[in-house]
Amino acid sequence: MPVLELKNVKKFYKMPGGGRFEALHGVSAKFNAGEMVAIVGESGSGKSTLMNTIGGLDSDFEGEILYEGKNLRDFSTKEMVNYHKKSIGFIFQNFNLIPHLDLIDNVSIAMTLSNVGEDFRRQRAKDLLKQVGLEEHMYKKPDQLSGGQKQRVAIARALVNDPDVIIADEPTGALDAETTDVILDMIRDIAVEGKLVLMVTHSEKVAAHCSRVLRIDRGQIVDDHEQKPIEHQQIDRENIVVHNMSLWKAIKLAFKNMKAKFGRNALVATGMGIGIMSVILMLSLGKGVTSYVSGQMNTYSNPLVAEIQKTSSQKMQQKKMQDVQKGDSAALAKQQQENMNSLSGTSATNSFSSKDLRKLKRIKHVKKLQKGYTAISLGTNQISYKKKRATLIYLKTVNDAIAKSEIKHGRLPKAGKDEVMIDNGTAETLGKHMIGKTIKAHLQLGTKTIDKKVKVVGTYEQAGNSGSMSTILLPYSDLKQLFKDNGLTLKPNVVYLTSSEQKYTEAIKTKAKDLGFAGSMQEQMTQMFDSILSVLTYVLTAIAAVSLVVSAIMILVVLNISVVERTQEIGVMKALGARRKDIRRIFSSEAFLIGLGSGIVGVLLTWLLSLAINHYTISAFKAAVVTLTPQYALTGVVVSVVISMIAGILPSNHASKLDPVDALRKE
Ligand code: ADP
Ligand code: MG
Repeated sequence: MPVLELKNVKKFYKMPGGGRFEALHGVSAKFNAGEMVAIVGESGSGKSTLMNTIGGLDSDFEGEILYEGKNLRDFSTKEMVNYHKKSIGFIFQNFNLIPHLDLIDNVSIAMTLSNVGEDFRRQRAKDLLKQVGLEEHMYKKPDQLSGGQKQRVAIARALVNDPDVIIADEPTGALDAETTDVILDMIRDIAVEGKLVLMVTHSEKVAAHCSRVLRIDRGQIVDDHEQKPIEHQQIDRENIVVHNMSLWKAIKLAFKNMKAKFGRNALVATGMGIGIMSVILMLSLGKGVTSYVSGQMNTYSNPLVAEIQKTSSQKMQQKKMQDVQKGDSAALAKQQQENMNSLSGTSATNSFSSKDLRKLKRIKHVKKLQKGYTAISLGTNQISYKKKRATLIYLKTVNDAIAKSEIKHGRLPKAGKDEVMIDNGTAETLGKHMIGKTIKAHLQLGTKTIDKKVKVVGTYEQAGNSGSMSTILLPYSDLKQLFKDNGLTLKPNVVYLTSSEQKYTEAIKTKAKDLGFAGSMQEQMTQMFDSILSVLTYVLTAIAAVSLVVSAIMILVVLNISVVERTQEIGVMKALGARRKDIRRIFSSEAFLIGLGSGIVGVLLTWLLSLAINHYTISAFKAAVVTLTPQYALTGVVVSVVISMIAGILPSNHASKLDPVDALRKE
């Protein structure tokens, strides 16, 4: 059976203005193993068209081509891929080596596409390079070689999977006479080994070397005659099993491609990296500032204690607000009075009823409920020692929320002994050593103002920075007695709930809020601040994200340029058996690598910037404001990879759909 048989093969090219041009007019021929066929004819006679059709690069023809009796037209995609990989080896006039791969990789690219193991692949490439006399140049790139050397590499590449047929389209067309002889000898050796060699040539001298000459004119065979047959030598055939290229191989190949244009890729990655950086930096800054602010505002540091305040129900407040908005002046006045009262601690709506207390006590994991009272005074509450006087903002009761570490000097006041604790700042305005000193307190209790002598037994500095708020603290029972003495009743307006374990504190707070109560004033303010900050952060992040869109477009453009630049390379890969999927994977992997690189650059830049910014803010106001969490870093990398892979979809698809014949014709 002939290796190849052509039956009445016709090929039409569509003309730009409509109509068809017939490049092959019904070619029929049989080719056997071990033949060396010279295909000669004028330029434009259809030789390349015939070779491409036989080689399976162009399936748009009429008639039949049988390979070992099997019709190419009936090949499955897989069989076609195997036909390219194992049955046919191509040698081109202009070599078509891949410029950024070294000779070993160029020779073994077909094996890479076939997922052949690394060691075997390299060894085989080295053996073949040795066979063509290039063992000293194995690690060079193609453009460091002369034309003859390049063609020798191309011959080694065509032989790498040990094909049955070698198609050489004017292999010596670009070479000088001397080199031509060397190359011809090599190609002849291929036929000696028993393979079928189809070689297009212009030169009669070259044709004279072949066992058969096939003359083509205007798409038809005009002469087909045998010459002196080739003497064969029996040689061992390689048994190379071809598979589909793995994703990992595609990524590795992509990595080599990326290295070739390192400068350009590094620039793109940096550009995208800056975009990623601005996004992560905004998020980290938002996080850092938020936690700084909450640290500042969160006065109480005992993690076991939840401070709960009473608020009138939301509905009532809404109703009130509506009345106020309707211009009801009485409602407005009432609301203002109410606001004042709630601040000074005299508001009835802000006190806890015994029913409230029972409800709170019943919350799961609440170990202890402590009543408390907080009032803010705007100038009335004062303390004095000798001639010095200090105005107080807070009047509070001793509570479990105060952590031991907050007490600077002395201890907490005990009940029934007229003892108080004041904040450190206020203590310093009164005198140097205030512990044990008796001071005069001028306090507003509900509607009355009283004067009383009390003893300072401790000073404290609240966690965070609100220590600057001057405060007097006394036991709840003492305050209750004071109220009673003055004909008033004290109702708690704050409650401290101690949880049995720290992990339950948050749940207790949440439950209390569900029941219609509120967290501490600081907490409420912190929450408000938090929400303002997070809105700000998101707005800034969104602005920063615009730069990512720009980066995505940049990547798309760069990948597209890369596809155009590498059209020829894509053609070669397809001729060697690369599937569309393989090409798409290689380009997607390049997009993936750019994305990964950009993400890493982005995170690194953010990290460096955060070091610099935090260094500055720590020295300026003792706090780091950029918190780069691992989650943000990871998000940055993932976002970067996703964006650049999306940008890579179009170029990779474009590359995978390139027609190998068109791609190879490109110079
Ligand atoms: P050869 O290799 O013998 O020089 P080709 O096979 O390349 O000739 O071309 C044969 C004929 O087909 C030429 O006339 C050429 O102009 C025409 N041809 C080749 N490729 C195309 C194409 N893609 N579209 C239209 N005409 C083509
Ligand atoms: Mg040609």
